Amino acid sequence: MPGIVIVGAQWGDEGKGKVTDLLAEPADLVIRFQGGNNAGHTIVREGVTWKFHLIPSGILHTDTLCAIGNGVVIDPKVLTDEIDGLRAAGIDLSNLRVSANAHLIMPYHLMLDHAGEARLGKLEIGTTRRGIGPAYEDKAARLGIRVQDLLDEKILKKKIIAAMAPKELALRPFAKSPDLDLRAMTEAYLTYGHRLEQYIADTSRLTWETLDSGGYVLFEGAQGTLLDIDHGTYPFVTSSNPVASAACTGTGAGPKDIDEIWGITKAYATRVGAGPFPTEIHDEFADRLREAGGEYGTTTGRPRRVGWIDLVALRYAARINTLTALCVTKLDVLTGLDRIKVCVGYRGAEEARFDEYPYHQTVLHQVTGIYEELPGWSEDLGECRSEEDLPQAARDYLAYISDFVNVPVTLLGVGPGREQVIWTQAGRQTAPAQRAAV
Ligand code: GDP
Repeated sequence: MPGIVIVGAQWGDEGKGKVTDLLAEPADLVIRFQGGNNAGHTIVREGVTWKFHLIPSGILHTDTLCAIGNGVVIDPKVLTDEIDGLRAAGIDLSNLRVSANAHLIMPYHLMLDHAGEARLGKLEIGTTRRGIGPAYEDKAARLGIRVQDLLDEKILKKKIIAAMAPKELALRPFAKSPDLDLRAMTEAYLTYGHRLEQYIADTSRLTWETLDSGGYVLFEGAQGTLLDIDHGTYPFVTSSNPVASAACTGTGAGPKDIDEIWGITKAYATRVGAGPFPTEIHDEFADRLREAGGEYGTTTGRPRRVGWIDLVALRYAARINTLTALCVTKLDVLTGLDRIKVCVGYRGAEEARFDEYPYHQTVLHQVTGIYEELPGWSEDLGECRSEEDLPQAARDYLAYISDFVNVPVTLLGVGPGREQVIWTQAGRQTAPAQRAAV
């Protein structure tokens, strides 16, 4: 023990990468539990920017095992490219483990993802078109191909044939693509298998063994709570469960193995792709916030939609995940504002007021935020390293958030650098901080 889960408390891109990196330092094992190469973490360390798509960012620590759990879907080309890139940068990968039960993204998944979004036209979900949704569909349809299948040519071929048969019609436009040729595909995936074999493992057992021997396991989530396929703004969601409970199904840990759940939120809000976003800002202030926060997708480069912090949604995320801690990132980005708005309720059709996150999608599409205005601050926060260094208005802003969602703020981000964080008094009493201090 302990097991600690990191989840996005908004729509993803909250800065989970940096928090994971910090919390991974004293960890014995970091394991990803859902999503695919649509996540992407950016970490700035000693002036070097690292971008991760599949491998947990903990790989930068020499003593930490890093695993890709069974709940993740893996594009083996992306994974082998990422391995090559890290190796070329001098990173040791002997600590990498890949679940034998994780599902694979196949060439036809990529094609179907493109075709599906194109067909939806204006109604497109805004997927990253990396084949992740179709791979999860095949998993549910029991037509998926798993990492372990890469090690057996006969099984691999049989499973590819079975998976492609019901897709014949949808794949017709791509019939001439060399990537769909059965022989070529089998060859290519066997080659990936050879390359990945040394990393393939029973990661569920590894997780259990680490916890059982008193180790510290960090469960690394991707995307965010409001993109969850069950609890998010369906259908404008991702195809997996980014909420904390998925840390169990996506790794093979039991619910009692989880001790702390850390939710990451920005000091404001962003969203990529389509779907409801009640606190969205559209005027030129939105451009200013987007520029100040560098709000462009890590994996896609797409500009993110920006808005004020939504405390109704954040309180919902605190409940769905049973958050024990809140990390507020990018506080520095709000410097220079006279007043800062916080959304404390929603206004719907016919002036209806909602204090809780509405369950009905139509309501959510119609609502706008009801705001409180709090005083801003003008000081640059980049050098602040303790709560006392922060201007009073920034401290009041954080206290307001924490009180509203009823979760203690443990860690603050005041710049992109690894050292640009503040551990709050509550944060210093938590397991990761105490482990780091040992
Ligand atoms: P993730 O998917 O949740 O890890 O988020 P991303 O990696 O896509 O986005 C986080 C971005 O914000 C990265 O470029 C980080 O370097 C940057 N970042 C993280 N924390 C802070 C912070 O406290 N302040 C500022 N200005 N940038 C931050």
